[in-house]
Amino acid sequence: MRRRRKSFFLLAVVLAAALACATKKSSQNADIDLVGMDKSVAPGDDFNGYTNGGWTKSTPIPADKSGYGIDAILTDETRKRTLSLIEDAAKGNTPASEDARRIGDFYASFMDEAAVESKGIEPLRGQLAAFTAITDRRALARAIGGQLRADVDALNNTNFETGNLFGIWVTQGLEDPSHTYPYLLQGGLGMPDRDYYLSSSSHMAQLRKQYLAHIESMFRLSGFTDPPGRAARVFALETAMAQVHATRVESEDVHSAVSWNRADLPTRAPGLDWPALLEAAGLNDVPVVIVWHPKAVTGLAALFAKEPLDVWKDWLAFHRIERAANYLPKAFVDEHFGFYGKALSGIPELRPRWQRGIDFTNLALGDAVGKMYVERYFPAETRVKAQAMVGDLIKAFAKRIDSLSWMSPETKVKAKEKLDTLKVGVGYPDHWRDYSGLEIVRGDALGNSLRAELFEYRHQLSKVHQPVDRGEWWMTPQTVNAVNLPLQNALNFPAAIIQSPYFDASADAAHNYGSMGAVIGHEISHSFDDQGSQFDAEGRLANWWTKADFDHFRAAGQALAAQFDTYRPFPDLAVNGQQTLSENIADVAGLVAAYDAYRLSLQGKPDAVKDGFTGDERFFISFGQSWRSKERDPELRRQIATDGHAPEQYRADTVRNLDAWYDAFSIQPSQKLFLAPDKRVRVW
Ligand SMILES: [Zn+2]
Repeated sequence: MRRRRKSFFLLAVVLAAALACATKKSSQNADIDLVGMDKSVAPGDDFNGYTNGGWTKSTPIPADKSGYGIDAILTDETRKRTLSLIEDAAKGNTPASEDARRIGDFYASFMDEAAVESKGIEPLRGQLAAFTAITDRRALARAIGGQLRADVDALNNTNFETGNLFGIWVTQGLEDPSHTYPYLLQGGLGMPDRDYYLSSSSHMAQLRKQYLAHIESMFRLSGFTDPPGRAARVFALETAMAQVHATRVESEDVHSAVSWNRADLPTRAPGLDWPALLEAAGLNDVPVVIVWHPKAVTGLAALFAKEPLDVWKDWLAFHRIERAANYLPKAFVDEHFGFYGKALSGIPELRPRWQRGIDFTNLALGDAVGKMYVERYFPAETRVKAQAMVGDLIKAFAKRIDSLSWMSPETKVKAKEKLDTLKVGVGYPDHWRDYSGLEIVRGDALGNSLRAELFEYRHQLSKVHQPVDRGEWWMTPQTVNAVNLPLQNALNFPAAIIQSPYFDASADAAHNYGSMGAVIGHEISHSFDDQGSQFDAEGRLANWWTKADFDHFRAAGQALAAQFDTYRPFPDLAVNGQQTLSENIADVAGLVAAYDAYRLSLQGKPDAVKDGFTGDERFFISFGQSWRSKERDPELRRQIATDGHAPEQYRADTVRNLDAWYDAFSIQPSQKLFLAPDKRVRVW
């Protein structure tokens, strides 16, 4: 993925984190932003400061956002466009299509605050009463299984967070790309990661207090007796879960995943009534489950047997209410935001309801909204030009493989084969999802959301019994991001990232290659990062490297991890070079490929000087500006603890690994970002 993933808890709060401030350049051609630079900073000391310092100093983070930058600005724009689509769809007595009606009704139901207030927590009563009525562990396992959803993603969007006991992800088998399997991931926590429960840092200790108070408030708001006692027990149970959870770095190890026969689960992970859980989860007809976190799954199953039934029932009720909070009355929304927005990410204010409404509509009916979005906002011409640019980048990457001095001819053949079979999706998928089985009822905001979640889960499970679709998309077209899919050997570049300032068909080549070119190069390079390189041309987890080549590659990766370990945004917290290694390799390799493609596009002629900058300078400045972003401190800490991406400010400094950057800006050995030639990481 190009950009950091938003926490699923925050999806409501941040995903679109909008502001009524459009990019100041939206009406012009994209080019480098001279005003946003700070020329008093030497590029060799702080490249992010040099390219973005003016903007950083003059731009406050809006009160309803955890951070702000180029993607937040584009997401705001995209959301406004989506609102106008939804409003147009709702006009007239007869919507253009059944999907247009669903979209209009989903959004309108969420916006009907009066109806939401008057219903209170009633829509959840039946579910909560069913939990209260549980008297044995078989019924408990059934209830837990019934809550499971397709809400995690181990390799594409790398999302390891779920408040359900387990997360489900459905995709090709690691060693069997021609069949689809359900993957089982660890879950159960209400805070983002085990670190939040176990770390001794004072920041985490403070958050634990706030989380405990938050659980208590949710019980109180929902009318439960003894809120403090229930909260303490739920918190203790989650702390015990955190102790058996894998770390974020361990979650990145594809080799820890194991295939277990469904029938073997009770002996592999004893303590849990697996048949009851799997049946309720709709998984009783799958022969094999791929367990991503075998130790954690075993640990959670043991906790299931050991911890008192009543504690589990409270934990179930709390998470059920938490997951519904955004569709409940204002008191719940505010309490939920108070912890997940304010405490966890440092956001002062909840953003306007309409913006949340758009994001939830996107979650429920993403493809239907996306289809309308691209029809209006993604011209066929832009798609053709972006496809051509992807072709340029693939060619540049292939040339690099040819010219690598350290790689053996055998490994090169395999690498080229993988590149040749890469399936690239630009703008939107070839096939749209069919929502005809999804019932959206006007006036039933929470019910709509629950039905949409279940509909999505059933769709995901149905893939197990169908032929594999390598053209499947994992992001909606209206998402400002891009993604590499290792098991499909495929890429998705959504329409919403193929726009200014990333890409503008009429802009300078140096700008387009430094910005969108590096985005494309980044995603291609994921096929060859420390994780992606372990999958072959068919998406199979298989070693196609000679030992000597892989050792060389791994050593280069370790040098890059060490480079990022030195970045320290807080005195008590450094970037984790290992946790962010895949993304950092993709940044270095993607930038190199984009630079090569830029030079190739000039066909040997020198680029003109513009605004006082050479073409190479503009290329690198555009790259730096594509990372334009600032975050509130709690959000930055959350990102460092849970995300595979390093903070943007350091990603802009990726340039220090390219010789061409040293030449372009006459970087001197005395400057802070200077690396001796043998210390520059050359992965590809
Ligand atoms: Zn990435």
